[in-house]
Amino acid sequence: VTEPTHLTRDQLAPLVAAIYRRETAALTELRNLLPPFPGCPTCGQPPAELFVRNDHPSHFLEDRVGFGFRPCGHTFTADGEDLYNAYNQARQEAT
Ligand SMILES: [Zn+2]
Repeated sequence: VTEPTHLTRDQLAPLVAAIYRRETAALTELRNLLPPFPGCPTCGQPPAELFVRNDHPSHFLEDRVGFGFRPCGHTFTADGEDLYNAYNQARQEAT
């Protein structure tokens, strides 16, 4: 098992923006035209699925989120605050 790669806010922003656009599109009737998931930051492979992992007990006291890509299996962590800020930024740019 490889250690997850920690993403900075700058690395996180385009990822979160793409996920936000995808989730927004999923709420409309354009379900068949969902924007693709962003490519994996490590290998660039477009994932079929994103998954969230909460299996890092050592990070229990830190505001840290773990997630990964399938099928390539690369995993990442991000600070909760960075994630929150990136999400807010994506939401503002979308309106
Ligand atoms: Zn990958």
